[in-house]
Amino acid sequence: MNGQIVDEPAQAAARGASPDVLDWQRPIVAELAARRERWPHALLITGPRGIGKRVLADALARARLCEAPAGDGSSCGRCASCRYVDAGQHPDLRIVEPVDMTDDVAKPVEWIVVDRIRALTRWAQLTSHRGGAKVAIIDPAERMNAAAANALLKTLEEPPPATYLLLVSHQPGRLPATIRSRCQVVAAPLPTTAQGAQWLAAQGVRDATALLAQANAAPLAALALADPAYQAERALWLKALAAPATLSVAALGLRIDAGPREGRKERLAAVIEWLIGWCADLARVRAGGTPVRNPDHGTELSALATSVAGLPLFRYHRRLLDQRALLAHPLQPRLVAEALLIDYRALFG
Ligand SMILES: [Zn+2]
Repeated sequence: MNGQIVDEPAQAAARGASPDVLDWQRPIVAELAARRERWPHALLITGPRGIGKRVLADALARARLCEAPAGDGSSCGRCASCRYVDAGQHPDLRIVEPVDMTDDVAKPVEWIVVDRIRALTRWAQLTSHRGGAKVAIIDPAERMNAAAANALLKTLEEPPPATYLLLVSHQPGRLPATIRSRCQVVAAPLPTTAQGAQWLAAQGVRDATALLAQANAAPLAALALADPAYQAERALWLKALAAPATLSVAALGLRIDAGPREGRKERLAAVIEWLIGWCADLARVRAGGTPVRNPDHGTELSALATSVAGLPLFRYHRRLLDQRALLAHPLQPRLVAEALLIDYRALFG
């Protein structure tokens, strides 16, 4: 961890401009904006990955900071504050993410370290630049390491006036209970399939339904999966999984090591996701249902489902979930993938 972390105001560089509020979030944004004067000091925005929790946090921050809000509390989009927020330059808005800003280039890192939270605490004690509220977004909050979480707890225990913390988390269970108990939980709304498909179509995605299935109905996650290189890699792995008798563990393992070294963990994470979705679908098909995550591989799944026993499949699926939870820890991605593949092959005797 580098000690020289520059805490820029509202670093939006890593994310680009924030998109407008998503259709399925309009009711909750309206509800929270309407009572923006009575917000608790900390909101914990939870929900599955890829449904737009961060977009929601950005919209709420904008609504809270707006200097000419509409009667219902919603942001005007035209005042100086709204313009600063949109430009990623509002002095009273802080974004804390697991990135290292040394050399002025946002480099993703594993953890939000204590220095970042100490800087946030100092900022929280200062008077507001524009005389209004101050808002900080911590995203994802569960990536604070233990020392960082501890430092944040002090701020939550004695919150400075008119300062609001928006914690974003898809794994709130990984946050210390002491932090969770001091936040008001806001469950980010889930889109309907129609809303998700409509949003994807507006982003220029053609095969919205298939991508939504792969992404567990999370539209922003589905958009990330639209990358042709990702889809080609998925097709290759699923083809191998569909034929366990001829599956080459070594050849697939090498694919984890192919490409940039720092991408190995992400490639393993993708493989674990494919295995989880694939095995869950196998279980569904075994039980007479239809595949949810891989509807484009129904024939292959039906053929395989007759040659796998229920209990070992269940145990293997649980092991995949455990392995996914361990991804943040140091590990050797290729070896993990190979071990999972060996056990996968063994499921089919
Ligand atoms: Zn405004």
